[in-house]
Amino acid sequence: MRMYDIIEKKRDGFELSLEEINYFITEYCNNNIPDYQASALLMAIFLRGMNERETADLTNVMANSGDTIDLSEIPGIKVDKHSTGGVGDKTTLILAPIVAACGVPVAKMSGRGLGHTGGTIDKLEAIPGFNTSISRENFIKNVKDIGISISGQTGNLAPADKKLYALRDVTATVNNISLIASSIMSKKLASGADRIVLDVKTGSGAFMKTLEDSAELARAMVKIGENTGRHTVAIITDMDIPLGRAVGNSLEIIEAIETLQNKGPEDLMEVSFELAARMLELCELGTIDECKCKVREAVTSGKAIAKLAEVIERQGGNKDVIYDYSLFPQVSHKFNYVSQNFGYIESMKTDTIGIASLELGAGRETKESSIDYAAGIVFDKKTGDNVVKGEVIATLYTNKQDKLEKACSLLDSAIQFCEVKPKAKPLILAYVDLSGVVIK
Ligand code: URA
Repeated sequence: MRMYDIIEKKRDGFELSLEEINYFITEYCNNNIPDYQASALLMAIFLRGMNERETADLTNVMANSGDTIDLSEIPGIKVDKHSTGGVGDKTTLILAPIVAACGVPVAKMSGRGLGHTGGTIDKLEAIPGFNTSISRENFIKNVKDIGISISGQTGNLAPADKKLYALRDVTATVNNISLIASSIMSKKLASGADRIVLDVKTGSGAFMKTLEDSAELARAMVKIGENTGRHTVAIITDMDIPLGRAVGNSLEIIEAIETLQNKGPEDLMEVSFELAARMLELCELGTIDECKCKVREAVTSGKAIAKLAEVIERQGGNKDVIYDYSLFPQVSHKFNYVSQNFGYIESMKTDTIGIASLELGAGRETKESSIDYAAGIVFDKKTGDNVVKGEVIATLYTNKQDKLEKACSLLDSAIQFCEVKPKAKPLILAYVDLSGVVIK
């Protein structure tokens, strides 16, 4: 078999066999296929697509490309959650301690930033000392001891996805339904959860820009999950606006801390609490309304923030960050981005906002780039808010003063104004399970 022939076949729009998919993944993981050929195939898949069978095969081959985790020694139902990625999406940092505080074990494997979106592992590493690459033994021990552990894709878990994810990030091949579905579900299958809640983002800041595409992605992932014996549901949530006010690693951790103390922005609380409640519901802790009450109680009682402190300490981090934000890395420059317009913010191109944050240092431009944990943006105003000329829309945080001009011009192009207050849109747009899509 030759990689050249596989690229050519997909380039010309033909279906790849299981053997061809297996050859590509195995040989790429063994470093026998160079990045330039893998990139060419990814681009061909991106442009030509994959059918349901090819997507399922790619998922299974990637899931089995390395070790799989056996969580059976942890008692109880293990539920996992995964987001398809967004801007300001820090829900894992909020729902994981909440769910653990409700008594459900959380063995969470998370990813790094991809494209214009952030990743939980990068965010957690903004906490001084926090170790995201713990051994499998310690990962399981932590869940057994304190009910929660959050780790990067350790060691050899779905290594094919790890390599491809980094390559897709820098070759403009992220937002394709088959590639996203197989990437997410291969990790979920390998990481051993019994049940899965998916947060499929939709809108300008998501990889899927329309509700139709997001519903298709959600259905594809729910089907893969259910066909492999993992009860899987999805909600589709709005990503036409950054979630919460903070974008950037330590800034998002701070916002998550506030949310766990019931002081977070309303939109972030709504999505995080809904996802947490769905996780509890899948673990049979009651009806969705009962689960929502349990989530609220975990937050208002202080149990959820205490659980966050516990996991930070257990994973080597400084838990004092919860009460003293000066312990986070700090920037040399804070800059007020002010409005040049009067009126209402009509819309925010959320992917452009993610790129502006990346420019300031909060994300990677190449596989090798390092992240500035302190960099990012905090919005004072978002879609629907009234602004007057000269009013602060956002504060930009950076250690690269020379990037401020570019970030500001990106924000200029991202934020549109209008004269009449735009109608508020719902945040939670649909619920998806094996029986179909229910639009809210
Ligand atoms: N999240 C993932 O894990 N993979 C993707 O491809 C996109 C979002």
